[in-house]
Amino acid sequence: MISNVVDAISNHDRIADLGQRVLKGGTITREEGSWLFGLEKTSDLFDLMGWANRIREHYKGNKVHLCSIVNVKAGGCSENCKFCAQSSAHQTDSPRYGLVDLPPVLAAAEEAKANGVTAVGLVAAWKGLEEGAILDQICDRLTELKDSGKARPDASLGIIKNPKVAERLKQAGLECYNHNLETSRRFYPEVCTSHTYEDRVETIRHLKKVGIKICSGGILGMGETREDRCDLAFALRDVGANIVPINILNPIEGTPMAKTAEGIAPMEVLKSIACFRFILPKQEIMVAGGRTVNLRDLQSMIFMAGASAMMVGNYLTTLNQSVEKDLQMLRDLGLDPRWEKHGFSDQDTPTPVEDVAVVS
Ligand code: SF4
Repeated sequence: MISNVVDAISNHDRIADLGQRVLKGGTITREEGSWLFGLEKTSDLFDLMGWANRIREHYKGNKVHLCSIVNVKAGGCSENCKFCAQSSAHQTDSPRYGLVDLPPVLAAAEEAKANGVTAVGLVAAWKGLEEGAILDQICDRLTELKDSGKARPDASLGIIKNPKVAERLKQAGLECYNHNLETSRRFYPEVCTSHTYEDRVETIRHLKKVGIKICSGGILGMGETREDRCDLAFALRDVGANIVPINILNPIEGTPMAKTAEGIAPMEVLKSIACFRFILPKQEIMVAGGRTVNLRDLQSMIFMAGASAMMVGNYLTTLNQSVEKDLQMLRDLGLDPRWEKHGFSDQDTPTPVEDVAVVS
């Protein structure tokens, strides 16, 4: 009994020490991150979240960054990501269509502006982008989106192997590109075998080189360990991610992970968000796909756990709660999503391109 009390006090003190260090601009080590991810007692988790909340408030104030996406090309993807309903390797009911024209993109931008959403990301289900007619069309849509002045033009268009493609996107007005590392380097082959983790890191390198901001995160609940989650957070720090989307697996019927996923408890998700905040104190930590279905009534706790951003509107193949409900949640929490308050200036000096390398 006495040793339990001593443990609780020492955990309380150690979490506070780490939290204070991060608040003062310091960093935590991989070993310390692993210890945080390993915490299990409810009292420790609430201590952890309390500090994550302070770190968020210290670096972000009450700003919350909202993003939305529009699927500009759906289904029939050549890749075999085991979580994805859009892979042609899996039999799902997910819609399939080719590259859309401009009107749906502008409609998404209009909706975003009406809701105070900062960014609209153009998302395509394919392996990646190369030079050619498709790239030309994508660039046209990005430029139109930028010129509309309604939302920041972002995109998630897969692997980029040719640096010229990154340059074209930048010239077209792209500000931020989503390319998730998804999980740890160790676990990645369990998620996808049609391309490699290194392909993804290389894509980020090309984008950073031309000055495009990086949105990169992963998915929790695919069967990875806590160590994998910790490795992912440190890898994202190493690659210099600006926005870190945390998705929570929502297993889709017909995908391999629908058979294997064991689910992840809401408190484990909240703890992971808090650990990410300790490791990535100045980044936008964005809770994205799977929020509603996995967190249920605990959704509003993501901000106390350190999240500073949220994807709103529907996801690629699943539904979210209504934007109005999300905006009400932010008002109730005293958080401010107004997009004109957002920029990347409150983040770290960007990682020098030559230092972009994943150590874990
Ligand atoms: S996650 Fe992207 S690359 Fe992987 S199968 Fe789905 S659409 Fe294709």
